[in-house]
Amino acid sequence: MPIDNRRFAGIDVGGTKCLGVVWQDGRIIREVRRDTPQGADDMISTLVEIVRELGDVHSVGVGVPGLVTREGVLRAAPNLVGVSDLAVGPQLREVLQCDVAVDNDATCAAVAEWSVGAARGVDDVVVVTLGTGIGGGLVSGGRLVRGTNGFAGEIGHMVVESSGPQCVCGQRGCWERYASGNGLGYLGRLAAEQGAAKRVQELAGSAEQIRGEHIRQAALEGDNEALVIVDSFARWVALGLTNLTNLLDPAMIVIGGGLASSGNVFLEPMRRWFEELLYSPQLRPHPQLVMATFAEQAGAVGAALLPKFAHISDT
Ligand SMILES: [Zn+2]
Repeated sequence: MPIDNRRFAGIDVGGTKCLGVVWQDGRIIREVRRDTPQGADDMISTLVEIVRELGDVHSVGVGVPGLVTREGVLRAAPNLVGVSDLAVGPQLREVLQCDVAVDNDATCAAVAEWSVGAARGVDDVVVVTLGTGIGGGLVSGGRLVRGTNGFAGEIGHMVVESSGPQCVCGQRGCWERYASGNGLGYLGRLAAEQGAAKRVQELAGSAEQIRGEHIRQAALEGDNEALVIVDSFARWVALGLTNLTNLLDPAMIVIGGGLASSGNVFLEPMRRWFEELLYSPQLRPHPQLVMATFAEQAGAVGAALLPKFAHISDT
């Protein structure tokens, strides 16, 4: 492959922050951060500002949280205030006059892990981003799975408990109601109701205020009740991972997002439950379960690489 020292800009639009990076020669050489604005007009002008601050670039990629069409139109974005049906790609192309690619933020994270991260060179990969919710990016047979509309990989909304709690998508018992950061908080509040989360509750101030971070902290301290909650959380995560394995037969599952940075506290029980719940575990090679290479920069790095990999994904 010829040496490519072009500068690629990537922006990850989060619910509260936007992160812009310049990717060159296989690494991040510049970062720009902004608060995520409210409303469509401010969103576009903020993205343009970030690109201008990143300097001279060959192309621009943007990862946004929500359903993104193949033309780069953001259809639904429950975590962005005042933004829906926004033609992010077409509008940026008109202003910036360069190559612009737009995709779902978790798809971008998958592109990063698959092309330059933990799953480099692996043809069948599931990248699961455990954050506030759950995002997914799927690579099958060496190609990014986009679906008819570009909406594939909404794995957080696989229903795992049909009588479970209500989800933002309108269904009940979606995977992300149990196996995300929010899901961990929910499991903690359930445990507190049974009087089985004393240290966690102390850290949170009250049972109602329990969030994933309190359980994580108590678990890292070695609190037994917190470790029981983490174990039940790990089982929910593994349940979804085995469903995905039955669907796609991946060689590797990459776990990213905020929870991935907690290391073995989550990974060890997740692995144990995964082995236990896997279909015919003794009769098959097991997919490798690994932590992501990129932490919070995965979305921005993958966004930067989107235009470069367009020939792979646009099929
Ligand atoms: Zn849902």
